[in-house]
Amino acid sequence: MNSTVTTLGPATPAGCMLSVIVPAYNEEEVLPIFHGRLVAALANTPELAGNWEVVYVNDGSKDGTLRILRELQQQDPSIGVANLSRNFGKEAAMSAGLKLARGKAIILIDADLQDPPELIGDMVRAWQQGADVVNMKRASRQGETWFKKASAAWFYKIINWLSEVHIPENVGDFRLLSRRAVDALNQLPESNRFMKGLFAWIGYKQVMVEYDRHPRAAGQTKWPYLKLFNFAVEGITGFSVVPLRLASYAGFLTAFSAFVYALFLLVKTLTIGDSVKGFPTLILTILILGGLQLMAMGIIGEYLGRLFKESKRRPLFLLDDYQAPQNAAQGTQSHALMPDA
Ligand code: UDP
Ligand code: MG
Repeated sequence: MNSTVTTLGPATPAGCMLSVIVPAYNEEEVLPIFHGRLVAALANTPELAGNWEVVYVNDGSKDGTLRILRELQQQDPSIGVANLSRNFGKEAAMSAGLKLARGKAIILIDADLQDPPELIGDMVRAWQQGADVVNMKRASRQGETWFKKASAAWFYKIINWLSEVHIPENVGDFRLLSRRAVDALNQLPESNRFMKGLFAWIGYKQVMVEYDRHPRAAGQTKWPYLKLFNFAVEGITGFSVVPLRLASYAGFLTAFSAFVYALFLLVKTLTIGDSVKGFPTLILTILILGGLQLMAMGIIGEYLGRLFKESKRRPLFLLDDYQAPQNAAQGTQSHALMPDA
């Protein structure tokens, strides 16, 4: 039994054994099937003894997601429904769930059944054996294109080369966190919410469980490639300043070569004299230098933009309203709850 007391800040009073957090954005097609399987899986986990809650976070859906969630909530007192004021993105929706959940352990799971709820039992057992973070590693990624798999592989290579904490490959957001791990996450003030990185950053006892990732059960992915690319830039700039250093290295290197070349030209002009040729060298130098400068400025801009964003200290999300599970100890959670950004 994991009973380690958190030493970080005010611990949320544990209201139940396990909270399952489900961010949902336009998931009306899959939610009813998902919920059925989730509840069955929770009922099949004797360790929980029925002591769980599910916190759905509606991330500004434009379809009937919220209505379906409210219906589910009517039928089941263990369900809480948080409604964000607009679409803030999955990372923010998960942050909202992490603030609202009251469990001693917390599981983050996608609504689209790509993360099989049937694994919850294994995750809970790993936690009870002392793990603080149970990472679920995708042994296979079914239903994903060759390009998505390849770009994911490259992303992990690059970020792990650059970042100071190791971010495990092929581990999505599907994972279990102990209460102290959640309290630690909730304390991180930054608005750059690259969760995969933050999960790794907090440390504690992390274990890895492998599983087969299924294709989406219904509905569509909300991650077009451009969004994924931006997500990758977010991750890299949030967890590494190496690109800034690379920009300075490139600068030093070109400045140094330019200096050597200038010496060479000087000697050449003095000894052999100057021929008017040399247009290719000239144009190449201008292009290369111009390109490098733009690149370096772009990299600085990325970081500057992030600083700008952090300096505004905006909350990660705004809650329109939270209806806590009816069987909660007291209705202490209200929509006044906002991240103490
Ligand atoms: N999601 C969200 N807000 C968004 C986009 C996605 O809450 O802006 C949720 C979505 O409902 C799902 C999970 O995040 O539960 C994963 O999304 P998706 O399946 O589209 O991502 P993929 O599996 O393709 O990476
Ligand atoms: Mg998905």
